[in-house]
Amino acid sequence: AGAPRQDFIRQIVRDDLASGKHAAIRTRFPPEPNGYLHIGHAKAICLDFGVAEEFGGLCNLRFDDTNPAKEDPAFVQAIQDDVRWLGFDWAELRHASDYFEVYALAAEKLIRQGDAFVCDLTPEQIREYRGTLTEPGRESPFRGRSVEENLDLFRRMRAGEFPDGARTLRARIDMASGNINLRDPALYRIKHMPHPIAGAGWCIYPMYDFAHALGDAIEGITHSLCTLEFEDHRPLYDWCVDRVDLAHSPELLAPLAARGLPNVAAKPRQIEFSRLNINYTVMSKRKLVALVGEGLVDGWDDPRMYTLQGLRRRGYTPAALRLFVDRVGISKQNSVIDFSVLEGALRDDLDAHAPRRMAVVDPLKLVLANLPDGHTETLAFANHPKDDTLGTREVPFSRELWIEREDFAEVPPKGWKRLVPGGEVRLRGAGIARVDEVVKDEDGTIVELRGWLDPESRPGMEGANRKIKGTIHWVSAAHAREAEIRLYDRLFSAADPDDEADGKTYRDHLNPDSKRSVRGFVEPAAAAAAPEQTFQFERLGYFVADRHDHRPEAPVFNRSVSLRDTWAA
Ligand code: ATP
Ligand code: MG
Ligand code: MG
Repeated sequence: AGAPRQDFIRQIVRDDLASGKHAAIRTRFPPEPNGYLHIGHAKAICLDFGVAEEFGGLCNLRFDDTNPAKEDPAFVQAIQDDVRWLGFDWAELRHASDYFEVYALAAEKLIRQGDAFVCDLTPEQIREYRGTLTEPGRESPFRGRSVEENLDLFRRMRAGEFPDGARTLRARIDMASGNINLRDPALYRIKHMPHPIAGAGWCIYPMYDFAHALGDAIEGITHSLCTLEFEDHRPLYDWCVDRVDLAHSPELLAPLAARGLPNVAAKPRQIEFSRLNINYTVMSKRKLVALVGEGLVDGWDDPRMYTLQGLRRRGYTPAALRLFVDRVGISKQNSVIDFSVLEGALRDDLDAHAPRRMAVVDPLKLVLANLPDGHTETLAFANHPKDDTLGTREVPFSRELWIEREDFAEVPPKGWKRLVPGGEVRLRGAGIARVDEVVKDEDGTIVELRGWLDPESRPGMEGANRKIKGTIHWVSAAHAREAEIRLYDRLFSAADPDDEADGKTYRDHLNPDSKRSVRGFVEPAAAAAAPEQTFQFERLGYFVADRHDHRPEAPVFNRSVSLRDTWAA
């Protein structure tokens, strides 16, 4: 483990523990189950779970399932898988819908206190009455209803007597507040739609600010970490927590006790941090949904997607994503992270941990004519140049090899260090070779190279120490396995795909070369990989055996990232 992470949130937690404000901390990660998690969520997950872990506290996973229209239980499972894959586990798995009964009791308490009222304005009127940043809002004509009338109307809302949108329950705060969120915000709306978990018994649903604040209080969350766009909601968050005051209203928690859900009411503190933004990506769920829906990518886990499922299939490791989040850090400063920081974290992780293999993506045959027909031998290769603990493997070598077509040039450009007619090159781990003859078909396309392997240059021999400019990789043609190799690149070629200048949309910024599939050859030890095993294919980049499609008898590899950043401006 490296040095302890330092940021303003961890400092607050440290201070709160030192001062005795909290004996133990509790955080939560509150996704809405309306889509798959993306790289932005990884930042929130690493923070929510990471802070709890580092300070000996606990973190809950809470599904914010207060909008039945947008939720799909399939996402609930996928989100759990993603959190576990990143290497975290939750103290308790909760749903906001577990608290529906508590929310309704809390709403009645607010009504009895004169803190909430049932409003009959239409959604359009509510918007109109709300005012603007420079203009105060106007009070609803229903604001003065008696407690009895409000209680009666709220119960009838709940009983299903009124159609969608006919009434809302609103907080009674301050229509003149400089913070629009405090201008009598809605707490409940009517929606006649069964809930996937809570069932058909509900036709009123709590609004996010109310449900979220109370959910935190119910679970005894001490530090409620969220993104900066909620900063203006904090006064409302505090208002909900204070006015409902669960800590002194144990009767509101009775429905949970009856269901066996342990709970601790605390006074949670909301703390905001800046969202993760990365150039060359889109991160809003709406746009990710559209990419899938319009067939612009091959599904939610397309290796070009910035969903955690997509990144995983691309070959991103949990360690690389956690390293990335650490490097980005936590602050209140909005910024756009360069995509190379994400790729750099993956390279650094894989450079340290991925075994090396040889593969050829654009094969050209090289026949070493001085070796006897059918000559075959087995060479021992280290799996990693810097880490002996990764061991060695056997690499078959023979008279006929596949090399990269682009490692040979009949007319070499200046500074060329690879094969040329009559020139020498080192074959990685096998000796020094020379090309004597270039075989072409009738169109002039090179179909084969014939050459010579210096018998005095085999590994371990004195002659192997001769100075040679270039080293190329190869695979033995007789032993190689044909493989599908998917050469992925960034999905967008514009730094800001959200840029809608000149009537463009992110669709116009797609990189036309983001996916290319080729047939290549890999050494046997690569073909034998398990799905999701990552490798460095020497000189080509980092690759992963496809999670779904790879089989040893029909290998499929995805390029995770090239060896070097070729996008640098
Ligand atoms: P989107 O806008 O993409 O739909 P969201 O914020 O609505 O995302 P939620 O499921 O509500 O998605 O998010 C769960 C948690 O993840 C929230 O606490 C949210 O603040 C956090 N989160 C979402 N996107 C990012 C991001 N880009 N950077 C950091 N945290 C994020
Ligand atoms: Mg959200
Ligand atoms: Mg959202």
